[in-house]
Amino acid sequence: MANETVLVTGGSGYIGGWCIIPLLQQGYTVRTTVRNLSREAEVRARLATQTSTDKLTFHTADLMADAGWDAATEGCDYVLHVASPLGVGGATVADLVPPAREGAKRAVAAAIRAGVKRVVLTSSVAATSPPNDSPQGTTDETVWTNPAGKGVSAYQQSKTLAEKAAWDLIASAGGTTTMATVHPALVLGPVLGPDYSESVQVVERLMRGRIPGIPRLGFNVVDVRDVADMHLKAMLAPEAAGERFIAAHDFRWMTQIADTLRAKYGDRITRRQIPDLVLRLVALFDKDLQEVVPGLGRRREFSSAKAERILGWAPRPVDQTVLDCAESLIAHKLA
Ligand code: NAP
Repeated sequence: MANETVLVTGGSGYIGGWCIIPLLQQGYTVRTTVRNLSREAEVRARLATQTSTDKLTFHTADLMADAGWDAATEGCDYVLHVASPLGVGGATVADLVPPAREGAKRAVAAAIRAGVKRVVLTSSVAATSPPNDSPQGTTDETVWTNPAGKGVSAYQQSKTLAEKAAWDLIASAGGTTTMATVHPALVLGPVLGPDYSESVQVVERLMRGRIPGIPRLGFNVVDVRDVADMHLKAMLAPEAAGERFIAAHDFRWMTQIADTLRAKYGDRITRRQIPDLVLRLVALFDKDLQEVVPGLGRRREFSSAKAERILGWAPRPVDQTVLDCAESLIAHKLA
């Protein structure tokens, strides 16, 4: 391992950053892509709060352009393709699908040309979801989201189509480069600075009171550090080649996340709940909310049993993840 090189795309991002940290700590040489090298100093300073960044270099590559991908990938042993836009806030298919799918194709094609041993693609449980009107229950990696299904969001489409395109490229190359995919549920945990992922808003809005009340929504939660750990395990395990792995720990309703926070931070965390009907009405005028409406009151769970069995993945307790997330927001004066 000592002389191996890993490219992590999207080092400015939440999961990308937390993937780079353990790789550097374990002695890998790490490259990361950003859209603009002007971000290097800021991103490097953020990562340097956790580990030495001497073996980290920055490369320019945009998911929407061919330039830079070969230069970033040439000579690498592994590629973790993490970069992709998130879909909160009314983003459309046109906003999300091209960077996700064309970007995945660019990153994976460059990895194949460079002859890397393994690509780990960050997909999502958005790509392992049964139809919205199917009965509640627990889903695993055998399920593929139908991108043309009723009520399937632009983000779900982007993650599903990107992953499918990546598997197709690996299959048609037929070479020695293998791939594994990691499918996180709602990612929380410590933020490294103010540029955190949209998923963190679940805790940030509760902490800052930036929420009129708590909607009847629930998710499997997973710690960003455990998501990174799964990427590293999927990169190395021979048995991971050709496999999809869900990264999801326990299910929590938002009211339960609020209870965990209230136990530590007191009554600044609201108890008020939003009736489904009110949220549905507000969503008629608020694009941000339209995406959450199908999930109201629905307990759709995702299982990581496969990752636990094959990769020996062992996530930390969800309450710790929630509290570490809140503490980091306070430390960075974001809550
Ligand atoms: P994030 O913090 O918003 O990071 C997204 C990363 O993608 C950033 O580095 C961003 O770069 C990069 N990116 C976006 N558009 C790009 C483009 N056109 N060209 C190059 N880079 C681009 O979000 P995250 O939570 O870490 O998400 C990382 C991955 O995890 C994504 O694939 C996402 O779908 C997946 N995921 C996240 C969650 C979650 O709950 N957070 C759950 C499941 C899956 P800039 O800094 O330049 O914008």
